[in-house]
Amino acid sequence: MGKVWLVTGANSGFGRAITEAAVAAGDVVVATARRVEALSDLVAAHPDQVEALTLDVTDIAGIEATVRDVVSRHGRVDVLVNNAGRGHVGAAEETTDAELRSLFDLHVFGPAALVRAVLPAMRARRSGAIVQMSSMSGQMSFAGFSAYSATKFALEGFSEALVAEVRPLGIKVLIVEPGAFRTSLMDNTGASEEIADYAETVGPTRRMTRTAGGAEPGDPARAAAAILAALNAEPTPLRL
Ligand code: NDP
Repeated sequence: MGKVWLVTGANSGFGRAITEAAVAAGDVVVATARRVEALSDLVAAHPDQVEALTLDVTDIAGIEATVRDVVSRHGRVDVLVNNAGRGHVGAAEETTDAELRSLFDLHVFGPAALVRAVLPAMRARRSGAIVQMSSMSGQMSFAGFSAYSATKFALEGFSEALVAEVRPLGIKVLIVEPGAFRTSLMDNTGASEEIADYAETVGPTRRMTRTAGGAEPGDPARAAAAILAALNAEPTPLRL
C-alpha cells in the first residue's frame, strides 16, 4: 500500500518536485497551497494519486480542519512535508515588526500547528515521518537575511527537540537544509530593486540567480529524490 503524504506549498519549487517524486513512487499526495489552481495539471495527470486542497499555513484553524479531513478520509498521514515558505531580503534596521511576524507565522507557527495536528494519528499508528524544510540559512546567516534566517533558526530549534520527542514513538523527523535552488522563492521578497540586486551577489542567492535557466545545479527534483531516499534509509539521517 502506498503512503499518504500531506505537502504544503505543493504547487511550486520543492513542494511540487516532492509531490511528483512521491507520485512516481506510487504514493498518494494531498497537495496543498493557497493557489490551488496551479496544481490542476498534476491532479488531471494523476487523479487517483493527487488531491489538491487549498491551505494557507498561516491559518491555524484551517490547518486543524484540513488535517482532520485528510485523516478521516485517508485514515492516516504517513508523511507531512512542512515546505511552504517565501524569501525575504532586507536590512535588519528596515525590517518591520509586521514583516518579521508574518515570516514567523509562515515558517514557524504554521509548521508547528501542522506537527501538532498530525502527531496524534501518527502516534496511534506508531509510524510516520515529518520533513521540515529549513535552509542553509537555518545554520548560518548573511547580511540582508536577518528575518528569513531568524525564522529558519527557530524552525531548526523546534525540529531538533521534535526529533528527540518522537523518535521513541516510531516517528521520523528529517530536517532539510538546502543551499540555493532554482524555484520562485526569491521572486516576491518585497525587497527594493537595489536590495534585490545586492541579494544576487551574496551567499544563498548567488548560485540560484547565476544558474537560472541552466540544467545543473539547483534543480529541485534532485532535492526531492534525495529526500525520498533519506526517508527510506535506515537509520533516517537527522539532516539533509
Ligand atoms: P517557491 O516559491 O517555489 O514555493 C513556495 C511555496 O510556498 C509555493 O507553493 C507557495 O504557494 C507556498 N506558500 C507561500 N506562502 C504560503 C502560505 N501562506 N500558505 C501556504 N502555502 C504558501 O519556493 P521554494 O520551493 O524554494 O520554497 C519551499 C521551501 O524551501 C521554503 O520553506 C523555503 O524557505 C525553502 N528553501 C528554499 C531554498 C531555495 O533555494 N529555493 C533554499 C533553502 C530553503 P502559494 O503562494 O500558492 O500558497
